[in-house]
Amino acid sequence: GKTVGILALQGGVAEHATLLESLGAQVRLVKKPEQIEGLDALVLPGGESTVLNRLTRLFGLRQPLMDAINGGLPTLGTCAGLIMLADRVEDPVAGQQTLGCMGVTVRRNAFGPQVNSAETTLDWGNQGNQVGVRAAFIRAPLMVEVSAGVDVLARYRGEIVGVQQGKIIGISFHPELTGDTTVHRHLLSLT
Ligand code: GLN
Repeated sequence: GKTVGILALQGGVAEHATLLESLGAQVRLVKKPEQIEGLDALVLPGGESTVLNRLTRLFGLRQPLMDAINGGLPTLGTCAGLIMLADRVEDPVAGQQTLGCMGVTVRRNAFGPQVNSAETTLDWGNQGNQVGVRAAFIRAPLMVEVSAGVDVLARYRGEIVGVQQGKIIGISFHPELTGDTTVHRHLLSLT
């Protein structure tokens, strides 16, 4: 089986673990740099991106994560995890940095509190090859700009909420909260 790491410093770790295990993957909670070694794939969960930024530094994980992801480790970032992957945050909290592995600009909390916990079905995939994904949005970031080489895989109300660049997938929403396995199966297919 495949071993999938979940960054387990803060945020929605357990839901990702349950979903990945239901797909037959072995889950490893990642809190230390040496736990990145030997992974087939990695998940950066939702939570709070400013806290994730601080904790990844405090735990000595920032550079090891950057090295692994830039080195081709298939990675899925959801919500705050997407913000961590982005190379630009339009509205950072003072001093907020990211891992900067993907050519996207994110706008934090873009959907605002009125769609707090909104659940919807999105089209997921390249044009002509799309499937429905059940998605939850919680104070979700959207992507206001993507570089060449970044494929848009999902939109919500016209805005970009799902992308892929090489083996990195970034999504604004939470499929792990609806139990939809499409995006996680997509991640496993990249291993
Ligand atoms: N608003 C959070 C942030 O800016 C993200 C919310 C989430 O991960 N559900 O990091």
